[in-house]
Amino acid sequence: MQMFNLALFLCEAVIYFSVMMALLHFRRQLGLGVFLTALGVMHFMETYLAAVYYIELPFGTVSPGSSVFFAGKLMMILLLYLKEDAATVRQPIYGLFLGNLFTVGIAQFLQLQEAAGLPAGRTVDVSFMNEMGWLMVLGTALLYLDSIGIILLYERLGRMFRNHTVLRFAVSGAALLVFDQIGFFIGLSILFDAPASVFVGGMIAKLVAVCVYAGLFAIYLKLDHVPRATQRDLNDIFHDLTFRERYQALLANSGVDGLTSVYDRRRLQEDAPGLIRQCLERGGNCSIAIIDADRFKDINDLFGHLKGDEVLKEVAARLKAASRPTDHLSRFGGEEFVLVLPDTNHDGAMVLAERLRNNVRSAVLRPDGNPVTVSIGVATGPEDGDGFEAFLAAADRRLYQAKTDGRDRVHGRLGSFEAMKGAQPA
Ligand code: GH3
Ligand code: MG
Ligand code: MG
Repeated sequence: MQMFNLALFLCEAVIYFSVMMALLHFRRQLGLGVFLTALGVMHFMETYLAAVYYIELPFGTVSPGSSVFFAGKLMMILLLYLKEDAATVRQPIYGLFLGNLFTVGIAQFLQLQEAAGLPAGRTVDVSFMNEMGWLMVLGTALLYLDSIGIILLYERLGRMFRNHTVLRFAVSGAALLVFDQIGFFIGLSILFDAPASVFVGGMIAKLVAVCVYAGLFAIYLKLDHVPRATQRDLNDIFHDLTFRERYQALLANSGVDGLTSVYDRRRLQEDAPGLIRQCLERGGNCSIAIIDADRFKDINDLFGHLKGDEVLKEVAARLKAASRPTDHLSRFGGEEFVLVLPDTNHDGAMVLAERLRNNVRSAVLRPDGNPVTVSIGVATGPEDGDGFEAFLAAADRRLYQAKTDGRDRVHGRLGSFEAMKGAQPA
């Protein structure tokens, strides 16, 4: 009986691999969605079988669910990577991961309902959903690691055995399945007191399945081309697999400066001209302030660049806190910030700039206890020009004046903030 079971077990592996491989091979004609959906549907079957269906084989009691189908799915993920690329294969990796978590979560929710009776005396198996919950979470997390691991290991082995594609396929599959078996067994023994024989039997079954798959893969290589090895850096592949480049692109496109979390220069250049035009068209005033940290190079030189970064973040936070919600604060570059102040005349802008200066001075300290100071140049339209570029040039000239006058001060059209107060007593 055991030998008969083994023969059927091997047949299952051959059938699974051949059908899935065919769907993958004809993805241009069928659409990749057919292969991916089939992979997902088989995943459900595999999970169910792994929970309830075991057979006797010469090397132990094993479930075709976790050996034939789980091992097969992992090899299919590697094959999809080989036929396409990291950006494609991450779709089922994340799809399976999120779909599994979703299943576990929604199963909890379903149990809040009262199930109706079933015909023919069948009963609802609620405990199955419960038991599967944690095991699914563990299996899902492992699958995620397995999928990324098998691809990275395959590529890593490519550095050593460039011309042995089948060997790399088999070794990376075997290594990750052993890893998976160990991880999953730890879960099984904690949750269900699984005996050690389950571990050994399951592992041998997975390795047998991988041998079948490697053999079929070797046949496939005779029929069709699979790229030998990429020249890409493993880090790059990893970043692709984990959507890292999308995340970085998201940050880069969000218009927010990565260090200080205020807007970045690109965003300033997109927003400021419109903000200023709207104010001037309404017949109002609009001001801008350029804020530059004083002697910032000294901070870097004395305390290191990392400390400098921290100080810069604090300066940005104080500027943000001291400005109004309608103001537009951005990092213009290095240790320079630009604040656009809609509907604000020159006096109002000078008062606000003075508040920014005081705020930074009193709240941001260097590691040696000395205050961090800023110099600020202020310009206001329509008097200082008709648009953003003109405002910027005027404010920059005044910033330069503030620096040459001794720093830690605000300069506007009538000179420094103190001079302005003298000229126009409030
Ligand atoms: P001042 O403006 O008062 O004339 O002197 P300063 O030393 O601040 O002026 P300068 O513009 O010559 O130098 C700016 C320094 O700011 C140079 C650079 O080391 C530092 N800096 C620019 N961007 C960053 C950054 O992102 N992080 C850190 N830590 N330092 C930066
Ligand atoms: Mg500076
Ligand atoms: Mg500067």
